[in-house]
Amino acid sequence: MSKYNQITESMGLQPMLIDQKDQLKEKLKEVFGYGQFRGNQAAIIKNILSGKNTFVIMPTGAGKSLCYQLPAVMLDGTAIVISPLIALMKNQVDQLNALGVNAQFLNSSLTKTEIKRVKQETIDGKVKLLYVAPESLTKPENISFLRESNLKFAAIDEAHCISEWGHDFRPEYRKIKYILEQLGKLPIIALTATATPKVKLDIQRNLQMEEADIFRSSFNRENLYYEVRSKKDIKKQLIKYVKAHHGKSGIIYCLSRKTVQEIAQFLQVNDIKAAPYHAGLDSNIRVKNQDDFLNEEIDVIVATIAFGMGIDKPDVRFVVHYDTPKSLEGYYQETGRAGRDGLEGNCLMFYSYNDIIKLDKFNKDKPVTEKENAKTLLEEMASYAESAVCRRKQLLHYFGEIYQDQNCSETKWCDNCRYPKEKFDGMNYVLTGLTAADQTKERFGIKHLTNVITGVNCQYVKSYSHNKLSVFGVGENESPELWSSVLRQSMLMGFLKKDIEHIGTLKITEKGRSFLNEPYPLELGRDHDYGKEEEHGLEDEAITRRSYDRSLFELLKGLRKKIAKQKGFPPYVIFQDPSLEEMAIIYPTTQEELSQINGVGRGKVSKFGQPFIDTIKQYVIENDITTASDVVIKSAINKSKNKIFIIQQIDRKVDLEEIAESKNMRMEVLLGEIEQICYSGTKLNLDYYVEHIMDHDRQDDLYDYFLNAQSDSITEALDELEDEGFSEEELRLMRIKFLSEFAN
Ligand code: ADP
Ligand code: ZN
Repeated sequence: MSKYNQITESMGLQPMLIDQKDQLKEKLKEVFGYGQFRGNQAAIIKNILSGKNTFVIMPTGAGKSLCYQLPAVMLDGTAIVISPLIALMKNQVDQLNALGVNAQFLNSSLTKTEIKRVKQETIDGKVKLLYVAPESLTKPENISFLRESNLKFAAIDEAHCISEWGHDFRPEYRKIKYILEQLGKLPIIALTATATPKVKLDIQRNLQMEEADIFRSSFNRENLYYEVRSKKDIKKQLIKYVKAHHGKSGIIYCLSRKTVQEIAQFLQVNDIKAAPYHAGLDSNIRVKNQDDFLNEEIDVIVATIAFGMGIDKPDVRFVVHYDTPKSLEGYYQETGRAGRDGLEGNCLMFYSYNDIIKLDKFNKDKPVTEKENAKTLLEEMASYAESAVCRRKQLLHYFGEIYQDQNCSETKWCDNCRYPKEKFDGMNYVLTGLTAADQTKERFGIKHLTNVITGVNCQYVKSYSHNKLSVFGVGENESPELWSSVLRQSMLMGFLKKDIEHIGTLKITEKGRSFLNEPYPLELGRDHDYGKEEEHGLEDEAITRRSYDRSLFELLKGLRKKIAKQKGFPPYVIFQDPSLEEMAIIYPTTQEELSQINGVGRGKVSKFGQPFIDTIKQYVIENDITTASDVVIKSAINKSKNKIFIIQQIDRKVDLEEIAESKNMRMEVLLGEIEQICYSGTKLNLDYYVEHIMDHDRQDDLYDYFLNAQSDSITEALDELEDEGFSEEELRLMRIKFLSEFAN
């Protein structure tokens, strides 16, 4: 009987299918404390549970580990997890143990006795997840013991390490398949966050899983705010920015070790808890600085890009690129280290064209093709920084993904959407760009097309007789920069696309063809000119969109740090920030209530819950947080869930009608809930909705009224303002706005 059959049998696949979904969800809550699966997680888990090979491509922070952890917990027997870094293994094992799951690792850091114990526990079937380094896997004594164990599937984390074309090649990874074969026919789940087509193919071939089901998630990181600023007065800007994010964890990337040292020192003298990290530091110091960062002893780590691989801190709230990075791919991976827990992550890049020139100079000794490739990457970087198009749209386009929905411009979650530049009528410009591509037979790139359009009579242009084309020189009144921006925006709009066979040349798409035949009006944006541009009202206030009781949150954070120190692991192993935030919204004061918090499972309630409950209880008493919230929260958990839902929806600026509808509530009831949320101390920003239903004069009238009124009674207000014809809803909304701004 093959392993495949064993799985289906021991799990009783048939009945499992019927209510598998519920079972999975139950386990998700019970063990991990989460109420919902994210993205493809459920489908992936079902796939591996039914014994199929599974290939997962998900961006950092999307929740890959759960995809093998949960099935491992559900099955009888052991899953092996192959992972490249000892630090990563230890991290995950700590987190799983904190959840009450038996996970162990097998690597060179263990003593003989420890190894013996781990092996015995595995053979006895006690270990749910066994993490091994590829090096340990290849040892003959390990293979024989693994054959004695009841293995259920193998997870290959960071699977891109298999490929020489990825950014982190590990030769031992190429042997994994061969060894797994000796262990019986185990289903494989391979996971990675890097997904260029080349690497993907390499992974599939090497693991012989071409037939595997592939689950690819969008690379959109909704919670990350992208921003580019000029390097003008950079130190002043940096200090303001870091201070605005006071007490939060952040990474500042610099290009050179020297800058790392300098900036770390500069922050330290400005009273910021910062430390440097780069490969030139003594390894003791490096490890200490990294641990201090994980343990919240310091807030900011200033680092070269050597830092980040292998750290898995979920609550990094900002990532700053002090120098312009070398490629968009690197930039995306580095910014990806912010906000892994789904809460806000602010990504700020300082840009200067001088950096691009400097970086280009570094490449001068490279072989020709490599140099050309590096240059192309730098050009992409520069155009990303200078473009006024939504950052998100550009990044996703770079990864071959089309960002259709206008979500970013609505939520204003990048600087270009938040501070849109003036648009201009672009129809004729795009038409000229496409015509140039067409007349030159779609065999050239941006630079050449720009030369043709602006009428540059150089040798190269002449050699193709492109100076004879009708499009030659038609755009000579505009700058070459404008034309290359037009061409790039035409790519983002899907009129032109890069030809993958011939790097650097642009082809006209079908959409582009029909535009050429029948042009229609469209808008273009002008690029940034960081040299001249006024800085937009630089909001150095940390951009957040969540409402919770900040003092309670800080209190819980302190408690978490204290307990983590006693137990000897990083604070986020105890509870992650989203869970603490939720506690600071609904004030759980019993174990039952605590277990309803997202991210808090049964294991964590009994292991760590009590001191948190005690602290919240005391806080509630001291701050007299009784009134409505007590009734709402304590009477029924359901209601507090509603409360969170409402707060989240309002943070996302959803219309109140819509919220009411989705919860099947009448508007009055919803307003009642919102009032209670406000009275219990949570600040809500309803401006977006108030704007939508009332003009400014009416708002001002009501505002003045509440400012001067003796009481906040709605009945009295209705009486007083009888002649003005305000509705009760308007009054209640303005009262909420007023209370949020003043009382809280
Ligand atoms: P990745 O390995 O893809 O970078 P992780 O597995 O580290 O991501 O997960 C990122 C974060 O998301 C972790 O803090 C994890 O606890 C959290 N997470 C994963 N799945 C869920 C879920 N279904 N609901 C809420 N949080 C989740
Ligand atoms: Zn945007």
